[in-house]
Amino acid sequence: MSERVGLVRCLEAAIYDHGAEHPLRPERVLLTWELIDAYGLADAPNVVDLPYRLADDPTLELVHTPAYIDATKRAGAGEGGPWSRFGFGPGDNPIFDRMHEAGAWVVGGTLAAARAVWAGEVEHSFNAAGGLHHAMPARASGFCVYDDPAVAIAWLLAKGAERVAYVDVDVHHGDGPQAIFYDDPRVLTVSLHQYAPEVGFFPGTGGSDERGGSHALGTCVNVPLRPGTGDEDWLAAFDQTVPDVVGRFQPDVLVTQLGCDTHRSDPLAHLQLTTTAYRETAKRLHRLAHEVAGGRWVATGGGGYRWASVVPRAWTIYFAEMSGARPPDAIPAPWLIRARALSGGDVPVTLYDPPT
Ligand SMILES: [Zn+2]
Ligand SMILES: [Zn+2]
Repeated sequence: MSERVGLVRCLEAAIYDHGAEHPLRPERVLLTWELIDAYGLADAPNVVDLPYRLADDPTLELVHTPAYIDATKRAGAGEGGPWSRFGFGPGDNPIFDRMHEAGAWVVGGTLAAARAVWAGEVEHSFNAAGGLHHAMPARASGFCVYDDPAVAIAWLLAKGAERVAYVDVDVHHGDGPQAIFYDDPRVLTVSLHQYAPEVGFFPGTGGSDERGGSHALGTCVNVPLRPGTGDEDWLAAFDQTVPDVVGRFQPDVLVTQLGCDTHRSDPLAHLQLTTTAYRETAKRLHRLAHEVAGGRWVATGGGGYRWASVVPRAWTIYFAEMSGARPPDAIPAPWLIRARALSGGDVPVTLYDPPT
């Protein structure tokens, strides 16, 4: 395996913390990088650590309004103001210290991943801290401050990419990138997600009738899935749709959001996937990147609320596929001890869940 693969360790993502009671824990990405290291995956000769920096305002403005960026800065610095107008407040998006910087570091990480792929320095790249796919141009939503996948896509277009395909496998609808590029024929957005409007599942959008604006009909594809969907049906739904629509679109770059809140143990959703489905999804996305996008694959993390027992395993599985590694199923003991100590809970001893 001689392909070069970039890993962004956006350690500043540790400050992306809505508070101890909030389900989105920064430890999930820190434990992911530690598990990747524990397996020695980052030491492989084809893996490079990518440099990254804080995204500046003009870059954020590729997607976000100046008024929203200003509000995010001021709210995160403790100033009072009409912040609920921008989606901030108690509940999903509480204001936290250095909120702008936290979001801008995550965007900077995903931009580094996109830049390295677009420059041809690496074939594939991964920013586990990214994938904040609910943020809108002028509003925080669903734990997301800035929409790093959307900013990266807009940046790729600005740098000359003619078509970008975005595939989102988070359990929640990828509503941010969909809304931002809904009428843009240069961007295909595909989202597979739990969809249960009768019980009010977040964010509520993502029906199969949402297909793109009048200038871009067919460049938005949604695969709504019923609560309870397991590995086999999920993968069948993927196979029925994703290779065909992405293949026909002929993207220059494939951008993927790899949320793992589809797991059967996730507390915020009701799909029934195991980590074996992540290995199969990783293989499919990898093959697709080579078949239709010249190998150019930019991957981000996403949701995932079993932050010690599931998220690090899920994203290590994805990164192993991306980098051509075959880690043994047994998880290195020192990492297990640390994950159990941090979480105070049980953590499986293998990458792959036993079959149900
Ligand atoms: Zn999610
Ligand atoms: Zn490859």
